[in-house]
Amino acid sequence: METKQLYLHDSYRRAFEAKILRIESNQITLDQTIFHPLTGGVAHDTGYLQNDNSKHNVVQVAINKETKEITHVVDDATGFKQGDAIKGEIAWHRRYRLMRLHTAAHLIAAVMYRDYNARITGGQVEPDQAKLDFNLPRTDREVFEDAVAKANQEVQKKTQLRIYFLKRDEALKIPGVIKLAERMPPDVTELRIVEIPGIDLQADGGPHVNNTEEIGQITLVKIENKGKTQRRLYFTVQ
Ligand SMILES: [Zn+2]
Repeated sequence: METKQLYLHDSYRRAFEAKILRIESNQITLDQTIFHPLTGGVAHDTGYLQNDNSKHNVVQVAINKETKEITHVVDDATGFKQGDAIKGEIAWHRRYRLMRLHTAAHLIAAVMYRDYNARITGGQVEPDQAKLDFNLPRTDREVFEDAVAKANQEVQKKTQLRIYFLKRDEALKIPGVIKLAERMPPDVTELRIVEIPGIDLQADGGPHVNNTEEIGQITLVKIENKGKTQRRLYFTVQ
């Protein structure tokens, strides 16, 4: 049974209640969750689950792309059983950093495409820093310094994000709505659209901040050359 993805509707929700659908060893599948799994290039949440008797840490979260079931790996599942009503809370500091870094990634990728025709080919957001891969023949550091500076200008504009759902057919009419083809499961009927008005719009299931102001200062960490035309940018937020 599909796990209801509560995090798609509110990135700021920190606590929730759910039912345990299944336990296999220390892997717990819930009927609904606010825990974001490792998906779409964004790291998973951590936190805890508890019932009346036990409280255990969630150390990993994964989604089964076919069944849409979300599995919470706990450090110990003693005292939990199938059918239990449980409460859970995510580690907010970690999640909020993921939200800020992930939203910053949108701004940088949008600037890189707009001003340097560089397409994003991959990326990963972790709580301490994020990396983005671009297809860019030039190796100049100035390109990335410029992109980060312009992303910071977007932060200063204090733009309110718009997040909404569109029917698949409607969404796919928007040019460039899917930045990374492999990130969209073929069977979805509705796409979640994340729009940063004036700069970016794409289909995206990840957690974001409500306003670009929340990102804070974006800083370039380092740049790596990954072959002839692949450049990897590491950045963080202060
Ligand atoms: Zn996103």
